[in-house]
Amino acid sequence: MALLVCKFGGTSLATPERVQAVAKKLVAYHRQGERVVAVVSAMGKTTDDLLALAKSVNPHPPARELDRLLATGEQASMAVLAMAIEALGVHSTSLSGRQAGIMTTTVFSRAQISEVRADRINEELDCGRIVVVAGFQGITPKGDITTLGRGGSDTTAVALAAGLQADLCEIYSDVAGVYTADPRIVQRASKLANISYEDMLELAAAGSGVLQMRSVELARNFGVTIYCRSAFSADVGTYVREGKAMEESIVTGIVSDLSKAKVTLRGVPDRVGLAAELFGTIADGGVLVDMIVQNISEFGLTDISFTVPKSELSRLEPILDKLVQILGVRGFIVAEDVAKISVVGAGMQSSPGIAAQMFKVLANCGVNLDMIATSSIRISVVVGAAGVEQAMRELHTAYGLDSDSDFADTHLTAAELEAKMTKGR
Ligand code: ASP
Ligand code: MG
Repeated sequence: MALLVCKFGGTSLATPERVQAVAKKLVAYHRQGERVVAVVSAMGKTTDDLLALAKSVNPHPPARELDRLLATGEQASMAVLAMAIEALGVHSTSLSGRQAGIMTTTVFSRAQISEVRADRINEELDCGRIVVVAGFQGITPKGDITTLGRGGSDTTAVALAAGLQADLCEIYSDVAGVYTADPRIVQRASKLANISYEDMLELAAAGSGVLQMRSVELARNFGVTIYCRSAFSADVGTYVREGKAMEESIVTGIVSDLSKAKVTLRGVPDRVGLAAELFGTIADGGVLVDMIVQNISEFGLTDISFTVPKSELSRLEPILDKLVQILGVRGFIVAEDVAKISVVGAGMQSSPGIAAQMFKVLANCGVNLDMIATSSIRISVVVGAAGVEQAMRELHTAYGLDSDSDFADTHLTAAELEAKMTKGR
């Protein structure tokens, strides 16, 4: 008897029919004799709608109240799924984050899971029930509801898989696995059968939205095997697990990220401790900074550029205004029309020329580089947003990642898949 944790994303639960299809899948596992824990996201675009609702009454909603509101999305879908399971003649219990024993820190909107107290889940499983847990949320020691950041249901699923010592953590979504590039941009992207934690972490950090980055960190730390697969077809997906996955390939994948803005601070005094004060103040404001580049200083002044999520700009700009005043920074420029392109692969550690090749391809596409940053297994550049899709396709070809067939030829659209799935029920 295996223990399975199965997580379903919002798209997989967007309509009553889809919820019923998910219930059917879980019941099939149950009838095979597996112990089944489902983790759910909010149905469809519920989280975005709740966020908009909050902003409509308060442009800066208090974080505690916001978490409380957003957590209701997952609480609705867990109950609906449990009902759909019961309709198929199998007993099911839905549990909120609190009931499932997901203990977190008190950082609202970005809480970290500190512990999983799985007694209640185990009790329910022992009674032969399918347990449905609300993803994305937990409870502080004081009893306040927290959320784990956007995409946080992935992290709930992996944390439960670790806490329950599950045999497998399946992540079902509208993406059928991990690809060498986003198939909506690069038609010849190919699906990876396996990917290592290391490469997956870098892809997630580079902006691939398949898994929340923290879920991958957690999986690596606790040795949880993740299987990313489609909620709409039985196609094979991608295993995220330890090991050298793609022996022959140097580059595992390419990611473009349009969610970042580039901020340049002009005329920053070049003195010891300045960067510490600068980024300390930004961090105190709760803003997550990504790539940082400092330019050569002249006449005791320097320019510093960094990237931040566009969604953080409204929080960042008042902080920057303050920094201009207190630290004597001359001014700042925000560029939103930028894209980050990253090339990822553990294989590049032992293979020279990967960066040079990237720069050459981008130059041939007429793309100018604004920023460059590297880790031992990732090269990221920030460029103007125009022409990024073309550049992605050219890079994919240059690194020998193109599959033999077009994604569009071999894969059905989400609508086609759903039609097929509905018929199959
Ligand atoms: N519903 C949350 C979100 O949209 C959490 C998740 O889906 O993982 O970010
Ligand atoms: Mg997600």
